[in-house]
Amino acid sequence: MKKIAFFDAKPYDKIYFEKHKEFYSMDIKYIEYKLNSDTAYLAKGCDGVCAFVNDDIDEDTIHALKNLNINIVALRCAGFNNVDLKAAKDNVRIVRVPRYSPYAIAEHTMALLLTLVRKIHRSYNRTRDYNFSLYRLIGFDLKGKTIGIVGTGQIGKVFINICKGFGMNIIAYDPYPDKSLDVTYADFDTICKECDIISLHCPLTKENFHLIDKRNLPKMKDGVIILNTSRGALIDGEDLLNALRERKVGGAGLDVYEEETDFFYEDYSYKIINDQVLSGLISMPNVIITSHQAFLTHEALESIALTTLSNLKDFFDGKELINEVK
Ligand code: NAD
Repeated sequence: MKKIAFFDAKPYDKIYFEKHKEFYSMDIKYIEYKLNSDTAYLAKGCDGVCAFVNDDIDEDTIHALKNLNINIVALRCAGFNNVDLKAAKDNVRIVRVPRYSPYAIAEHTMALLLTLVRKIHRSYNRTRDYNFSLYRLIGFDLKGKTIGIVGTGQIGKVFINICKGFGMNIIAYDPYPDKSLDVTYADFDTICKECDIISLHCPLTKENFHLIDKRNLPKMKDGVIILNTSRGALIDGEDLLNALRERKVGGAGLDVYEEETDFFYEDYSYKIINDQVLSGLISMPNVIITSHQAFLTHEALESIALTTLSNLKDFFDGKELINEVK
């Protein structure tokens, strides 16, 4: 049995990892804290670490793990922007789950879009209060609208197909276009100028940090809808809030937020939030925020558990790591 320190553990993680851990000969120590250089010591006595999107796997964390003789970090997510890969090289091997359910994220993106454009969040609150008025609930058809898809990987492709089902016009931007895809590619400037809706499906890199900010927002159509189910720092939150206040942006559906680490996945309903941008966005009637939950389906959680446990077993068995991040 190999022992795994499982950071940022939530009850729903346990259901799927407990179900499969014995098959992979793993014993799991669930830790509620996020992994960072201060909490890494909690992995003492473990053979490996399992981490999630808001764990901070920086140089100090990596050295702290190395000092505990831990040589493997298994990310139970696709993105790895929270890992200092330079520091990890020659110290700790990093594996991830590159594919679990692109449908989960793509379908959640469409849920955000439909909620926004048909004002479902507002009518839900109204009818709960026996207010059956339709005043100010006029939406618009998605059919015939132009949507810009930024990133045409696994999730972008599924989302394109969903949008096609709605009869939308699609323009895509990706530095590595997929020629087999039946879609028109354009540069990001064209996406900004021509799209009624823009949806982000690319990883966060140094190059696309704040891809949407005050430089690009003025180029967009008045009333543009912005969707982000990828990574928060693709958008400058303050610039987006200003553009919403100026009515340049007509709505935003966000499953991620640049400073989400401090808040997402925790219950703050009884505390004061000291983040003016987040509380500003939440206060807008045309903004829907979900707490990085796009992945949260049975199918995705099952697949995440199986791939993560298999990645760890391959490492302990000395096999090739097919899902290694280098
Ligand atoms: P993928 O690797 O299959 O596809 C990413 C695509 O983005 C690739 O085609 C790549 O060429 C393209 N790309 C790279 N840099 C780009 C740039 N600067 N501009 C535009 N496109 C660029 O990844 P995926 O599985 O489709 O996932 C996409 C992202 O979704 C992940 O990186 C992750 O950040 C996010 N994600 C979010 C959740 C969630 O729960 N909200 C879950 C899984 C993944």
